Amino acid sequence: MYRSLMGAPRIGLTSSPGVIEDRLVATLERAYTAAILRAGSIPLYLPVLEPIHADAVVSGLDGVLLTGGGDVDPSWYGRQPSPDLGKVDAEQDSWEMALVGAALAAGIPMLGICRGSQVMNVALGGTLVQHLPDVTTLEHCVKERCTVPVHDVRVAGQSRLGTVVGGGWLGVNSLHHQAVEKLGDGLTAVAWAEDGTVEAVESEGPHRMLGVQWHPELLVDDLRHAALFDWLGREAGQQASAAVLSTAAA
Ligand code: MN
Repeated sequence: MYRSLMGAPRIGLTSSPGVIEDRLVATLERAYTAAILRAGSIPLYLPVLEPIHADAVVSGLDGVLLTGGGDVDPSWYGRQPSPDLGKVDAEQDSWEMALVGAALAAGIPMLGICRGSQVMNVALGGTLVQHLPDVTTLEHCVKERCTVPVHDVRVAGQSRLGTVVGGGWLGVNSLHHQAVEKLGDGLTAVAWAEDGTVEAVESEGPHRMLGVQWHPELLVDDLRHAALFDWLGREAGQQASAAVLSTAAA
């Protein structure tokens, strides 16, 4: 059904041009687009730009979706690469770190998915488990069943995530081989897999950041997963209407 997007919140999505041949990435990009539209927001894919442009780009957005993709270079958190580290993209890392900083400075909401959640954590000074099979036997990278839950996570009821998806157990898909290790400054863990792997983080205080390790864009038929995009749109919508009011007052 046609629904006008005039005046709807503008959500900037990160892209992974370095892995443009990857069919999974193409599938995911279509799914993010559909999930953002379903939530009544405008999806705007961002190219990888020089970090210096982050503030200017963010000034045209009401919210940011940090999408899934490759691994973050461990030099960002002062570690040597593990032998099992995947492909890294220095330009993409630099751009996305700057984007997180600019979005924080502008006070616009951020949803991080998979790599996006990891980028959020590293941008705030956290570290990552570079290869989960080194620390757990639970299978977290199940690409052949990416549209169905493959393991459960326990969501903290007393959390932002809990108010969005509900507290308690939630079935999730799992396409990651990395995860949050040490939390970034101002972030708190709010969901865990059965093996203790951190599956979601959120910001404390005034910032509006949520990061999930799973891929809710592939699970939107379940309203608890679709609710994450509704949350981003709602938070970004407050941003959009505040901007209209300040323009009117000027
Ligand atoms: Mn997982």
